[in-house]
Amino acid sequence: MEYRSLGSTGLTVSVLGFGGMRIPGRPEDEVAALIGAALDRGVRYIDTAPGYGNSEALIGQAVAGRDLTGVVFSTKTHVGSDKDADAVRRQAEGSLERLGIPRLDVLQMWGINTWEMAQQVLAPGGPLAGARRLQEEGLVGHVGFTTHALTAVALRVMDTREFASVTGRYHYLDGVYDPLRRRAMELGMAFVAMTPLGQGWLAQPSAALRAALGPEDPVAFALRWIANRPGVATAIVGMSSLPELEAAHAALGGELTAGEDYEAGAQWVIDRMVETLGADYCTGCRQCLPCPVDINIPELLRLNNLLRAYDLVGWCKDRYKLMGNADTWYPGVKADRCTECGDCEPRCPEALPIIRLLSALHAELFEGDRGRLAKN
Ligand code: SF4
Ligand code: SF4
Repeated sequence: MEYRSLGSTGLTVSVLGFGGMRIPGRPEDEVAALIGAALDRGVRYIDTAPGYGNSEALIGQAVAGRDLTGVVFSTKTHVGSDKDADAVRRQAEGSLERLGIPRLDVLQMWGINTWEMAQQVLAPGGPLAGARRLQEEGLVGHVGFTTHALTAVALRVMDTREFASVTGRYHYLDGVYDPLRRRAMELGMAFVAMTPLGQGWLAQPSAALRAALGPEDPVAFALRWIANRPGVATAIVGMSSLPELEAAHAALGGELTAGEDYEAGAQWVIDRMVETLGADYCTGCRQCLPCPVDINIPELLRLNNLLRAYDLVGWCKDRYKLMGNADTWYPGVKADRCTECGDCEPRCPEALPIIRLLSALHAELFEGDRGRLAKN
């Protein structure tokens, strides 16, 4: 296993991180065996949150009595609900108790998804002030943040230089946060990649994506691509079973080499997507925005890219159900809200038929609404 600096914190983490969001509901003994096996295989970054059901308690039970030297624990305080210093203290103290550890190595401000939320976090007496007091008392080591914000907003939060790490979604078919990775290197911050397997669909790819990958193992390809990108401290893989751990460990447990091969492979997969979409390929440049009714055109056309090129029907339908129901975690509204005002199309450098594409996408993906937050 490769170990890396967690930015400028002085902590060292394994490139394979354990994501605790998928263990809630699993039997305690299975989780204990899973986390024990992860630690035995050298995993040294465990990420959880009070909002992940009983994840913290399960992890606490699993690590009780173990030698935790060098294990870095990351948990979170919810920006949307823990709005002041006192709330952060209550939340952090609860996490310490559930995890059964004396100190939270990294306390994440969970979900700084807008600049307004950042201002709330940074305000006097606000969540960051609360976290700083916990640091002074030795209960928290470092403060980071997680985000689903627009890239420009996330960069602005990073540039406050108040945070030791930034955690954001990142994989070979979603490089929207690549500027965050680069900026983190410049600032000496840690960049932590979440959803490195695209919430599972990169691990069990469609036949079309499978064909594009050729002989590559999909999990190994996805994780090694991330691990080979400069500046990535760790990739948090949400695991709920030993076979999932074994697959991730097989990918990242050894020496990492041949980064350029992964770059070329990922580019090949993207090139196939561009080729398949032809004149309908959206580059995600965002120049079509703003939309007066708040349609998130780049995100919807990203789904369109993946749907048309790689038949990711189930995953795209899942995301589309969320659209309009997940607040700042997945901003925008469904495509049927388009008034066909025509504002966007002249701004698109690719001259995409946005109105037609959105209409066809809605017809294909709409199956009703579902209200749940995006998983980390
Ligand atoms: S045409 Fe539709 S998507 Fe484009 S700006 Fe108008 S409402 Fe928004
Ligand atoms: S301007 Fe065109 S290419 Fe750019 S994000 Fe919007 S639709 Fe996509």
